[in-house]
Amino acid sequence: MKLTFTRYSLKLKHSFTIAGNSRTTTPLVLLQLQHTDFIGYGEASLPPYLAETQDTVCGFLGALKLDMFTDQFDFDSILEYVMNFLPGNMAAKAAIDMALHDLLGKLLNKPCFEIFKANPDKMPETSFTIGIDSPEVIRLKVSEAGQFKLLKIKLGGINDREIVNAVRQVSFKPLCVDANQGWTDKYQALDMIYWLRDEGVRFIEQPMPKASTKDMIWLTEQSPLPTIADESCQKLSDLEAVQGVFKGINIKLMKCGGINEARKMIALARNLDLKILMGCMNETSNAILAAATLAPFCNYADLDGPFLVTNNPFQDPELKGGKIKLSSQAGLGMKLPAGS
Ligand code: MG
Repeated sequence: MKLTFTRYSLKLKHSFTIAGNSRTTTPLVLLQLQHTDFIGYGEASLPPYLAETQDTVCGFLGALKLDMFTDQFDFDSILEYVMNFLPGNMAAKAAIDMALHDLLGKLLNKPCFEIFKANPDKMPETSFTIGIDSPEVIRLKVSEAGQFKLLKIKLGGINDREIVNAVRQVSFKPLCVDANQGWTDKYQALDMIYWLRDEGVRFIEQPMPKASTKDMIWLTEQSPLPTIADESCQKLSDLEAVQGVFKGINIKLMKCGGINEARKMIALARNLDLKILMGCMNETSNAILAAATLAPFCNYADLDGPFLVTNNPFQDPELKGGKIKLSSQAGLGMKLPAGS
């Protein structure tokens, strides 16, 4: 198996602000795993609030010795080796994991969702994210939501009601809210959640800071809407601690280490009676289609990454009825742009 990788910069359609920091690009590492004539594709997305960088990912990938595996179908051993190679490095591990799955699907001539026995009819609608901005830009962003039937609004600042009102001036689509740990007073947070429920919001993601566990338990008990852990639940080992603190979790391949880990998280979350949101970073069609293969096992999907950027190196995923359409193509289902 031959591993090659390259740095790439995803250009965002709109500048993206989180915790007061604004940016217009997201660094990626794109990789290819080749076996005979088949190529599996993977990527690591590296937003600056996570610990990994293009340097750490390239360092990790460069040190792997995948040549020692002579049986390309010995998938479990390869993934186990990658997961245990070094601690952390979750986005780098996710990149290898999705390339291996893509390659496996191609070798078996089967779409990955079929290998996982995911039912495409159970695909949830995917939300389209509206980042924090001025009311004018918010209205513009809402107008770009096109075929998406669900909007995800970023809140957690001082003008949350102004943002929701700006959205509601131009759209009556149902909403999801991500407060990105932005609310620090549990009583104000509860008031806001009641108000948001009346505005047609379905769930609230990470309303309070990761460290505010006691307040979060209280808020989840009182909240008329499900609370979903994002920053508070990164990987499989975080999951048990979420029970009783939130009503659900946001699984992202870049946080948890890829499809294989995400499948274990889905199984455990279902056992713990937690709702599951399949989320994403700024990503190409590669990571989004990888996550989409598991989305039918989830309650919600937020897989809009490629629709928020201008230089997706693959064709955008197909949407049908506001849902990502799973491709019947072998592997994860990415298509290279026409003419390439
Ligand atoms: Mg979030």
